[in-house]
Amino acid sequence: MAHTDKNTEPENTTHLVWREISRRSRDMEKFDVIVIGAGIMGSCTAYKVAKRGHTVLLLEQYDFLHHCGSSHGQSRTIRLTYPEECYVGMAVESSRLWDEAEEEVGYRVVTKTAQFDFGMADNRSLQLSIDNCLANSIPVRVVGKSDVGKEFSGVFTLPEGWIGGVTERGGVINPTKAVAMFQSLASRHGAVLKDRVKVTDITKVDGGVVRVSTVSGLTFHGKKCVVTAGAWTNKLMESITSSPCIFLPIEPLHTEVCYWKIKPPYTNLFTPESGFPTFASYGNPYIYGTPSIEYPGLVKISLNSGELCDPERRSWQVDMELLEKKVKPWIKTVFPNYIDIDAGPVITYTCMYSMTPDADYVIDYVGGDEFGEDLVVVGGFSGHGFKMGPLVGSIVAGMVLDDHTGNDVDLSHFRISRFMDDPRGNLKDYEDFVSLQKQ
Ligand SMILES: Cc1cc2nc3c(=O)[nH]c(=O)nc-3n(C[C@H](O)[C@H](O)[C@H](O)COP(=O)(O)OP(=O)(O)OC[C@H]3O[C@@H](n4cnc5c(N)ncnc54)[C@H](O)[C@@H]3O)c2cc1C
Repeated sequence: MAHTDKNTEPENTTHLVWREISRRSRDMEKFDVIVIGAGIMGSCTAYKVAKRGHTVLLLEQYDFLHHCGSSHGQSRTIRLTYPEECYVGMAVESSRLWDEAEEEVGYRVVTKTAQFDFGMADNRSLQLSIDNCLANSIPVRVVGKSDVGKEFSGVFTLPEGWIGGVTERGGVINPTKAVAMFQSLASRHGAVLKDRVKVTDITKVDGGVVRVSTVSGLTFHGKKCVVTAGAWTNKLMESITSSPCIFLPIEPLHTEVCYWKIKPPYTNLFTPESGFPTFASYGNPYIYGTPSIEYPGLVKISLNSGELCDPERRSWQVDMELLEKKVKPWIKTVFPNYIDIDAGPVITYTCMYSMTPDADYVIDYVGGDEFGEDLVVVGGFSGHGFKMGPLVGSIVAGMVLDDHTGNDVDLSHFRISRFMDDPRGNLKDYEDFVSLQKQ
């Protein structure tokens, strides 16, 4: 006779039979689409598939809204400024989809404000970002050392030789709230969501059905499957036993997010209500930040870099020496006297980027004899994917539902095959990506 634990009654045979039937029927669950990984990309994909009336299962290895991947925390920038034109149009369309989702759910996850990009006047990515605004009819004001004081209550100082571009189309997304929003919308449209379910294998069975196996022994079946596993993408792809392993050049980087104390008389100047922008400072160090929202009196100023890590063996440490060397001098230059840098970053947390060599995304069918177009891999968002979540969800829904509706994005930029043609991927003539920490 089996016992569930020492405090409960012994189970009778009927109970055991019921449990076995229930386990088998759960195992036999079949969906149009199975999505693996419930960060922003998986949650948006599940929402878009469910909204279009198809059955979808979203599986997550940890608790929903956990803090171990890339989609947690309180702020992500949404902006239209990109050195590459393809992302400009995508950001415009994704912004529209953020508005649409907020309207459907009935609350806000995005705080709109301006976006300020700045750096040395000859910085190639900055120049291209400004050019792309002009080419796409996005109003941009170009400012320099002498006139930056007219913007943002005069809190920014630009060194000699620096310029900046101001657009009105920036904003801050609350990521944890946003992921929760898409999960709840997905659920409203009938998606099945399961957390603490780690997928260990994906294979093809029974004349073409995709079978997803989990560490606890459960299996699920789907017509199509989508891997949105963030920094774990290669770990999951490598665990596929039936096909030759596909290795994608997606590297997990451990990074840190820092909040700094604004000196008390100036706290109001750093809020979105006062017009303080989301910003990016190009060059080395590449620094980015968001207005004071989540912690009153604090502003987020972080380094866009990271160090290689294993997502399951992270140090979780913050490199204070690096912040001392790279971020403090930058703050002294750009916000002189406004920030209490001696207090150090008063709040820090860690996160992971999934970097590709060209900092472009991977959105593609896995291909090959076994999976063909039945398995899609979506990853390598290289520190700039969050804003695109709703659009990526829509693109991927179109890919797995075989109609490619809902977007007209040219996906050739995001193909896996670009790394076969050249391991560096898409060629770029600028270098302002997330950098390796020691550089
Ligand atoms: C510090 C930082 C700042 C950023 N700033 C910005 C910004 O300002 N603007 C912007 O647009 N983007 C930004 N990004 C990038 C953006 O956050 C990421 O591109 C995005 O969150 C990636 O989402 P994802 O769903 O691909 O990955 P994740 O959020 O990591 O989701 C993957 C999920 O898959 C799950 N999973 C993995 N393996 C398995 C398995 N075997 N079984 C089940 N589940 C599994 C994981 O647990 C995880 O929950 C930033 C990223 C970081 C780290």
